Amino acid sequence: MALHMINEANRCLNCKNPKCMEACPVHTRIPELIRMFKEQKLMEAGAVLFENNPMSVFCAIVCDHAAQCTGHCVLNHKGHPIRFYEIEQYVSDTYLDRMIVRRPEPKDKMAAVIGSGPAGMTVAIKLAEKGYPVTIFDEKEKIGGMLQYGIPDFRLPKTILDRYKKRLLEMGIRIRPNTGLGGALHIDDLFRDGYASVFIGTGTWRPKTLGLQGESLANVHFGISYLANPSAYDLGESVAVIGMGNVAMDVARTAFRHGARRVMLFARSSRIAASQVEREYTKLDGAEFIFGRGIRRFTEEGPVFEVYKMDENGAVTGSEGREELVRADSTIIAISQGPKNKLILTTAGLEGNEKGLLITDEKQMTTREGVFAAGDVVHGSMTVVHAVADAKVAAESMIEYMEREKP
Ligand SMILES: Cc1cc2nc3c(=O)[nH]c(=O)nc-3n(C[C@H](O)[C@H](O)[C@H](O)COP(=O)(O)OP(=O)(O)OC[C@H]3O[C@@H](n4cnc5c(N)ncnc54)[C@H](O)[C@@H]3O)c2cc1C
Ligand code: SF4
Repeated sequence: MALHMINEANRCLNCKNPKCMEACPVHTRIPELIRMFKEQKLMEAGAVLFENNPMSVFCAIVCDHAAQCTGHCVLNHKGHPIRFYEIEQYVSDTYLDRMIVRRPEPKDKMAAVIGSGPAGMTVAIKLAEKGYPVTIFDEKEKIGGMLQYGIPDFRLPKTILDRYKKRLLEMGIRIRPNTGLGGALHIDDLFRDGYASVFIGTGTWRPKTLGLQGESLANVHFGISYLANPSAYDLGESVAVIGMGNVAMDVARTAFRHGARRVMLFARSSRIAASQVEREYTKLDGAEFIFGRGIRRFTEEGPVFEVYKMDENGAVTGSEGREELVRADSTIIAISQGPKNKLILTTAGLEGNEKGLLITDEKQMTTREGVFAAGDVVHGSMTVVHAVADAKVAAESMIEYMEREKP
């Protein structure tokens, strides 16, 4: 492995105008980092990565590298792009264990972070690094948001989050688990108790429903709910998955690992929204991809579809005028998710758009003074690295805001 990574580093051309870096949403300084790696400056490289992207240790594993750094490396034209993410993973993982946490002089203003996903953790770290006392509130028991409760363990080992949490605590970040805001506690309570600014990084945790007959039957489930705790479900041997996005792929692959013998994924046209890597792994695991099926209703025997006609490009051209019952023990709906509206309903001045996503200005301030937001709750379901990019802006703005505002 080490030799492989060193070979990989040695192949890098150290481009003057690095396309890999340009294509990274947080513009990771890839050529410089590869240089440091070759010079065995592992800790320096780790610090550069962490400073630019505190989620680097996760991004190295879960980013869609084929669409970002690797996919844009100039060596693609020779068919052998640099797989920087392997180097990133090694460096970030090493750094996570060995980093020396220095706590600056504490500031007299404290901040609250609602949600411990990638956006919330990034903001908490950025504020703690500047000396602001930070408390993270999360309605779940464990930190990480979708890293913990969405992305399956076989793709992202949860032990990294346990190690990560130790570092957060060392930085002085305080965590209140099992504490959802918008229930017993409200954002106004946080201001009452002296928090000078509040960050919302609550993500998208409400599964989108289809509004079809049978959706509440015992053998029908929602993808993100299933992934949060798959062992709580008894899906049976055959599973139908509605949708072909990344969440649907994770659902299918998880179902196989929890005893399903047959997993079928259904989509209306032949467009697969999931990344190529995810789809290839799902096929490799043995899932069947079935196109030209529009879900009509759910039954105890399985889902019922309308069968569509498709042209040679896989586009739907009309209906065949018939329905098809697909026999399955369980059906899982994985067609996307939206934000919960608890905080909007309980916070004066906090506004969302027609999808319930929080409205922010270019500095990530919401429509409520002193309340900032980033990540999925602003943009809808995106990716870890996109949540980080906006969270960094939010943290900067919160610092600016707290410096400006007198107590
Ligand atoms: C199944 C699945 C697979 C994915 N795979 C990938 C992948 O491979 N690569 C990738 O880059 N991205 C992936 N994503 C997307 C990625 O996980 C998200 O874009 C990212 O986690 C968003 O970060 P966030 O901090 O905005 O929100 P989240 O990660 O959703 O975190 C939000 C946090 O807020 C907490 N919370 C919510 N409401 C409240 C409240 N009222 N009070 C207190 N706490 C609250 C939640 O418990 C949660 O901990 C995947 C998503 C899913 C669902
Ligand atoms: S584009 Fe490829 S070769 Fe050029 S600096 Fe980036 S990783 Fe190295």
